[in-house]
Amino acid sequence: MHKIQGIIKVAVPAPLYQIYDYLIPKSCNIETIQPGMRVRIPFGHATKIGMIVQVVDTADTATYRIKHAFEILDKRPIIPPGSLTLFRWAAKYYHHPLGEVIFSSIPPPLRHGKAEAKMMSYLYLLTNAGKEITSTDLPRAPKQAAMLAFFRRHPKGVRKEQLCEYDAKWRATLRSLTTKGWVTAEEHTAPPPAITEPDKTYHPFRLNLPQTRAVDAVCAHLDRFSPFLLNGITGSGKTEVYLHIIDRVISRGKQALVLIPEIGLTPQLVARFTEHLGVPLAILHSGLSDKERLHAWLMARDGNAQVVIGTRSAIFTPLPQPGICIIDEEHDPSFKQQEGFRYHARDLAVMRARQDNIPIVLGSATPSLESLHNVSQERYHHLLLNERIGNAQQPAIHLLDMRSGKHKNNLSPALLTTIKSHLDLDNQVLLFLNRRGYAPTLYCQACGWIALCQRCDAHMIQHQSMQRIRCHHCDAQQSIPTQCPQCGGQDLHALGQGTERIEEALQLQFQDVEIIRFDRDSTRRKGSMQALLKRVQAGQRQILLGTQMIAKGHHLPNITLVGILDADQGLFGADFRAIERMGQLILQVAGRAGRADKPGEVLIQTHFPEHPAFHALLTHDYHGFTTKLLEERQLGHLPPYAALALFRAEAADKIHPARFLQDVHQQASVLSSALWGQCPQGYAGDRVRLLGPVTPPMEKRAGRYRAQLLLQSGKRGCLHSLLNELVPTIEELSSARKVRWSLDIDPQESF
Ligand code: ADP
Ligand code: ZN
Ligand code: ZN
Repeated sequence: MHKIQGIIKVAVPAPLYQIYDYLIPKSCNIETIQPGMRVRIPFGHATKIGMIVQVVDTADTATYRIKHAFEILDKRPIIPPGSLTLFRWAAKYYHHPLGEVIFSSIPPPLRHGKAEAKMMSYLYLLTNAGKEITSTDLPRAPKQAAMLAFFRRHPKGVRKEQLCEYDAKWRATLRSLTTKGWVTAEEHTAPPPAITEPDKTYHPFRLNLPQTRAVDAVCAHLDRFSPFLLNGITGSGKTEVYLHIIDRVISRGKQALVLIPEIGLTPQLVARFTEHLGVPLAILHSGLSDKERLHAWLMARDGNAQVVIGTRSAIFTPLPQPGICIIDEEHDPSFKQQEGFRYHARDLAVMRARQDNIPIVLGSATPSLESLHNVSQERYHHLLLNERIGNAQQPAIHLLDMRSGKHKNNLSPALLTTIKSHLDLDNQVLLFLNRRGYAPTLYCQACGWIALCQRCDAHMIQHQSMQRIRCHHCDAQQSIPTQCPQCGGQDLHALGQGTERIEEALQLQFQDVEIIRFDRDSTRRKGSMQALLKRVQAGQRQILLGTQMIAKGHHLPNITLVGILDADQGLFGADFRAIERMGQLILQVAGRAGRADKPGEVLIQTHFPEHPAFHALLTHDYHGFTTKLLEERQLGHLPPYAALALFRAEAADKIHPARFLQDVHQQASVLSSALWGQCPQGYAGDRVRLLGPVTPPMEKRAGRYRAQLLLQSGKRGCLHSLLNELVPTIEELSSARKVRWSLDIDPQESF
């Protein structure tokens, strides 16, 4: 291949594994081009924005076939080399196209080719010349005179939002003023309008001994990669430990990255951070506008925010001075992205900390089996906080046997009596049910008809408040039928309980008690969750009823009773992680009880009180609970003792997904024998076992039929060797064109 000048290798946001070569734009000097800059390129018949990942002088293909890029969009790289390294690693590990990895991980305006500067906020100020103009100087331009007066009233400068309020047609006037040199625009780097005031009631504490030990252990390793599992029961003061570590990190001029589950990132928490740390924070969560998100991202990238707090995708925030990474509630499933680029933010964080050579702290009251296994393999340091702060005691946990006795609406008499006794002491009660809506089934008593979704293998859920039935999987909905569509009968019944129906039943039982329901329906409007929490914090003698959004994070000191209305949902889940999740959820919900001086109590309703999964939980023995589960996982060759990868396929036509996965299976067997000789089917520890194709429990969803193929191996390296060979060949299968398929590495839901 002959040598030529100026080739850029470009990752394109498309489901294609290739990196594409382009000649640099004709007018460009190669010296000015660096990886991390965006470029506009011709792509097929379209124009796309790509990311330069490498600048070279030889091409992979003959140069006459290479096109010129149209335009380099940036003067400087928008992401640092470290980010590119992380993206490359993630693309390789998750077997996902690099272009999609990069473009799904940067703020949307940058994806669409917007210039950084255009997205900055500006502060408009009077210039010295402008200050000298008075309204008498402008008899013919009353609008300009008025705007100058407005500026004089705001000597510190005016933001766009203020100008919008001042006059809807402010732009034209402002343009005249800037052209005349009377007003200037300054890029402003102050944080976007703060979403929270500092929490003034918060005082830093003297750490107790276990807290101090934890802080010291981490701070002894600030200059190198070292992973820690901070295993601290609910209410043991983990957040305080994070804050003290961050203090030390920022005093060395470094930045901290804190990841929190979506539900955990509350204004309460942000206020606590703001008050304690007193430095600019960049906050990244899904409720931000594109512009706010970009702003926070730029603050972090440019080193103007010393602390970045965010949910899952914040793991990709570039930091010039990384000092520590903290993952709160590390066991939380929301750290795994469930569509598109299916990364696990916790696992990427560990990789990132290794690259940046900094410590990482994974905190949880109920750590994942993966992290506990890493502790037992001495890959992570273990930090224990096993007492609650102050006088608070762990609540007593009891089972309520639902097989005996009469109960209505899934509320046992024993539970009702206990609720009453706690309310009589002016305390709060929290009831947990992971099912929103009124009832999960609507059926006809006469002919047995059940309201099913037309597009999914699922029941339509009745929502009384909206007077509709809805599918929670595809969002199909209609008004509640008044007669049976099958037999015309009028005897339609709601079967089973959702939060709405329990609320109704409780209100009948406790007529003078305020019941506050927390679920996706009651918190849909922005700020409504906060409003509800305020009512709880101000109140006494209330019943809080909610789905898992109430299970974690919140510090609600007046709760003394927690009731878990249906624990059996978790016992027989289709996924092998179902019991682990149930245990975590029970202990997290239990953690809401008795957090202050009042002792707490937890009641769990179940039809299976003898189920062994409960035994250890009743004494808060999470260690015992997980030890048993780990044994089972080892016997079953399941994570953390094996690595999994799951191919999913779907199509409108039932036969295509299975046919495609059969081809993948075939291909995998061939490659497997090439790699390791014959007998690819057996489970021989270092080989890859292929399970499927099978149909998942819900075969049809949103009008499409689904199938899956599971790959399992005792050695992660083997699984990846096979996938490295397999994935590039899949696009060439003719059956691949008839389906939508995806590959999920370390799937959190194996169906
Ligand atoms: P966790 O995150 O482990 O559930 P938190 O960090 O929220 O626990 O702490 C529980 C409560 O105890 C909070 O109200 C916190 O302000 C308080 N707290 C934490 N550490 C101390 C301490 N050393 N002394 C007094 N109160 C503390
Ligand atoms: Zn009927
Ligand atoms: Zn549906």
